[in-house]
Amino acid sequence: MTMRYYSTNHNSDSVTLRDAVVRGLAPDRGLYMPEHIRRLPDSFFSKIDGMSLQEISYVVADAFFGEDIPADELKRIVYETMSFPIPARKVDEDIYSLELFHGPTLAFKDVGARFMARLLGYFNRNSKQLVNVLVATSGDTGSAVANGFLGVEGVHVYVLYPKGKVSPIQECQFTTLGQNITAVEVDGVFDDCQSLVKNAFMDADLGAAMKLTSANSINVARFLPQAFYYFGAYAEMKRAGKADNLVVCVPSGNFGNITAGLFGVRMGLPTKRFIAANNANDIFYNYLKTGKYSPKPSVQTLANAMDVGDPSNFARVLALYENSHEAICAGISGAAYTDEQIKETLREVYMRTGYLMDPHGTCGYRALREQLLPGETGVFLETAHPAKFKEKVDAIAGGDVEIPARLQEFMKGTKQSVPVSRNYQDFKNFLLGEVR
Ligand SMILES: *Cc1c(COP(=O)(O)O)cnc(C)c1O
Repeated sequence: MTMRYYSTNHNSDSVTLRDAVVRGLAPDRGLYMPEHIRRLPDSFFSKIDGMSLQEISYVVADAFFGEDIPADELKRIVYETMSFPIPARKVDEDIYSLELFHGPTLAFKDVGARFMARLLGYFNRNSKQLVNVLVATSGDTGSAVANGFLGVEGVHVYVLYPKGKVSPIQECQFTTLGQNITAVEVDGVFDDCQSLVKNAFMDADLGAAMKLTSANSINVARFLPQAFYYFGAYAEMKRAGKADNLVVCVPSGNFGNITAGLFGVRMGLPTKRFIAANNANDIFYNYLKTGKYSPKPSVQTLANAMDVGDPSNFARVLALYENSHEAICAGISGAAYTDEQIKETLREVYMRTGYLMDPHGTCGYRALREQLLPGETGVFLETAHPAKFKEKVDAIAGGDVEIPARLQEFMKGTKQSVPVSRNYQDFKNFLLGEVR
């Protein structure tokens, strides 16, 4: 018995894990969901505080992928993915920060990208043909994907990014790697990068010449592993004696991260409720209030990785709660903050406690501060290191954030990139020239 993955649009057949990973999006443009979500036994939760993050993650991974990947391979993939700590730091008496920024690119996307890379490497292990991953980025996704796939055999990654439109810190994280990573500098904007990638996937000639896949954030192999650290957070809180009445708050953009946490709840994770914290892009917050989902163009904010006007994983939230607005409201509450509020909170917490948050985590902290009830403990996901937003954070907090050593290492490297125009034929010719 292997796990099947169905499409949230219900107009495509269900597929195997391998097909769901290689396709990314279902043919009917729906998102893949595992057909069942296994409840973990009480014995797991009673001893979880004695387990390492890697051990916990493997138990969670086994519930999803155990039927499809041999135990020793799955264990290797999970242990390699989760090879950095994810501690919960006390910020206030009742609020903890789950620091997801100790990975190679200092943001939570490292977890999903590292897992997906290894899973794809495993699926392609007996094939002589390279798998080529195309990814368009406005900054952070490219670095997480490139670093996640770095050195993975049988896979080559092309990161397309808009020339002059990503920050120097972001750019060096995917242009200095070499090996199986090629940075493609597009003379255009992010949307041009995205349409080059989309055209390439629809191009039958190209598909015949090379194996192409995407590492989009909606991919089940990037999305599901994010459930691991919610269980890790619970273990941390249990060790601190604070695991009862736990409220988890997730700064959300495309809602992949929070949805993985909600999968955790379905697997038995003992939490009281979840909060989705938004910036000024308050589509989900409005949905909770009105029951109507009204996507709108995104607006630019300080927490720019959450500038999403039509969260792609909303379909997964609906599927998880069988389209019931009432059930969604019972499990998740919302919050939305302006840039002014983000600045005010980031500064206040730094001045009062010395703890420096990034603008995304700040939304999470503030929602807990406003919504926690007496007797509850809150954990917010600190989704990135403040140094990734150094200029902004320094200006707000009046400090000088130290850039962690691994980020400085990237900045020392030599930039290597292939320039292409925004014309699809140019990009196609370049890719065809790469076939070996
Ligand atoms: C991607 C990202 C988010 C949003 O996560 P979603 O899964 O899209 O909701 C929040 N913070 C940071 C720093 C990110 O990079």
